[in-house]
Amino acid sequence: MVGNGTVEKKLIRYRIQCKHCKEIIESKTEHDFQLCGCGAVGVDGGLNYPKRIYRSHPLEEHYVDL
Ligand SMILES: [Zn+2]
Repeated sequence: MVGNGTVEKKLIRYRIQCKHCKEIIESKTEHDFQLCGCGAVGVDGGLNYPKRIYRSHPLEEHYVDL
């Protein structure tokens, strides 16, 4: 058996869907800022520094995690 010690990372997608305009947005890299069509929610930071942008609490009213 041959191995090189690396671990295959499972890809996790960072996507949310706006509950207002139903648009699905995804941040893929650290500086990939995406805003939904109506501007209510946004994602930033990719998988390493995930950030969510939303208008007001509670955030569950604005988006769903996918
Ligand atoms: Zn929206």
